[in-house]
Amino acid sequence: MQKPKLITKQKLKFIPNLINYQKTYDSFNYKEHYKQVNWLDKDHLNAAYAAMDANVLTEERKNKVALYWHGPDDEQRKFTFQELTWLSSQFANVLKTLGIDKGERVFFFLPRVPELYYGFLGTLKTGAIAGTLFAAFGHQALLDRLENSDAKILVTNSQLFPRVEKIWPQLPQLKYILLTDALQNKNKKLLSLPNFMELAPQTTHICRTEPTDPAFMLYTSGTTGKPKGVIHQHLAIVHEYMTAKWVLDLQENDVYWCTADPGWVTGIAYEILGSWANGAASLIHAGRFDPDKWYQLIQDYKVNVWYTAPTAVRMLAAGGLKTVQKYDLSSLRHMASVGEPLNPDAIWWGLKAFGLPFHDNWWQTETGGILIANYPCLAIKPGSMGKPFPGITADIVDDKGKSLPLLTEGHLAIKPGWPSMMQKIWRRPKKYQSYFNKGWYISGDQAYKDKDGYFWFIGRDDDVIKTAGERVGPFEVESALVAHPKIIEAGVIGKPDPMRGQIIKAFIVLAEGVKPGKTFEEEIKTFVKRYLAGHAYPREIEIVDSLPKTRSGKIVRRFLRAKELGLPIGDTSTLEKF
Ligand code: ATP
Ligand code: MG
Repeated sequence: MQKPKLITKQKLKFIPNLINYQKTYDSFNYKEHYKQVNWLDKDHLNAAYAAMDANVLTEERKNKVALYWHGPDDEQRKFTFQELTWLSSQFANVLKTLGIDKGERVFFFLPRVPELYYGFLGTLKTGAIAGTLFAAFGHQALLDRLENSDAKILVTNSQLFPRVEKIWPQLPQLKYILLTDALQNKNKKLLSLPNFMELAPQTTHICRTEPTDPAFMLYTSGTTGKPKGVIHQHLAIVHEYMTAKWVLDLQENDVYWCTADPGWVTGIAYEILGSWANGAASLIHAGRFDPDKWYQLIQDYKVNVWYTAPTAVRMLAAGGLKTVQKYDLSSLRHMASVGEPLNPDAIWWGLKAFGLPFHDNWWQTETGGILIANYPCLAIKPGSMGKPFPGITADIVDDKGKSLPLLTEGHLAIKPGWPSMMQKIWRRPKKYQSYFNKGWYISGDQAYKDKDGYFWFIGRDDDVIKTAGERVGPFEVESALVAHPKIIEAGVIGKPDPMRGQIIKAFIVLAEGVKPGKTFEEEIKTFVKRYLAGHAYPREIEIVDSLPKTRSGKIVRRFLRAKELGLPIGDTSTLEKF
């Protein structure tokens, strides 16, 4: 394995919220921190109240901007905490008028429009369960999720409605559809949200939810198979608040940009709940990925904290330094990344481009918040996910749930009981149970821990390659490949081989203008061998135009495998293209 180049000290130009990781970790007891967010009373906690309404308790916060909304055609709107508090209460009242009860499901099938954000909070205020659906979903993906969740109300717009109209007859429990852009009700079931909002009062009685009452549900990304409906409780807000404070380092006067879509958990936990509970202003960009536009937004909104994904970083890096250097990005103070392993090369590029490292962190839909992270106050080992968040016990265990020695790869496991741990998998109790073994939550990812307590990601259980008796993680091979200047992205799989069990096959995307010559394959193999053990280089290399990805930007290796071996592809609802 390539020796990590340690960023020994981060040159901080600010005092981070978490100053001493080890001291905090050693003395941290989660229960003592439950009251860091605002509860309704001693026993009742509502995540929407804690994330939004609690901000209007102080004069300064109340009139501060909470949301800068930047539309796809450069329209701009902004909302203060007070305004979002009112709007979300109005929305809660709309739901009440329509007879929604505690525990019933309300889903949002919308692009990143303001209605999605205050509607989500308003749903939580009623005690109903809010769910989000990515706007690019086709009718089958919608049917699966709306049927599985038994949603009673769906909020969408006229452009997306035709996809739902097609399946509505198959969803007898779906009573009403609210359109965000219809000025009049279409009929008794297809309603105008603006119309209802106009009639709704700006204050509401917030449901006195228990901390363990369900608050929101999300379907996983579907990287490994059929997406699972994960249920989270109101108490999750405590962990989301704490991690937004110590990992994302959100401070009250920050402008913060999380590039995720609320169709995925990152957009819920760190664009609505944890971030607003910290009082920071969120920038929401409703348009598409475009390097120039992204840099322009950071410059114009003076973004201080930026939370994005490795795939975006790789795409920005492919655009080179010239584009970045056209902009004044000096407002940036802290950058973080999640969703996939962050290749060390992406960190080195970040340092060159922004003068700051990206801080990788690891978590899942099921964990409801960041569990393992790099922090501003800690040295970074590029390629490592970092260390467990205070209050989180993480370890590497074998199939029997037994702790493994340092530097030994195994299942990444967490001690259950953190506040944002999923409460159940909707209608799949056996699936839920299957996550737990001998007192551990088993993540389904393979990793190892080093002597300093840093965790290193190897791959998902199904993606780890066994070649000539050795186990090889796709991540390290992919990281070695993308370190080559001619390669932008790489996806690596194990391909059955009569001699070696499996051989490593790499699918690579080349940088613009690169023409692979005759010796190209050999050049790449030699390059990778310099980084990794002799057996861990790809014996087969295929050049492709793009890699199959989920809509949230994750490389789907099961798709590459299925295609290579002529096997059924499985669930494709979350794939970008196939
Ligand atoms: P599904 O469970 O439906 O197959 P998914 O696992 O991709 O989809 P998510 O919950 O969105 O759904 O993603 C969590 C997974 O993403 C983790 O289990 C891990 O494999 C990967 N991941 C997230 N962050 C990181 C990271 N920092 N480093 C490495 N892997 C990461
Ligand atoms: Mg998963």
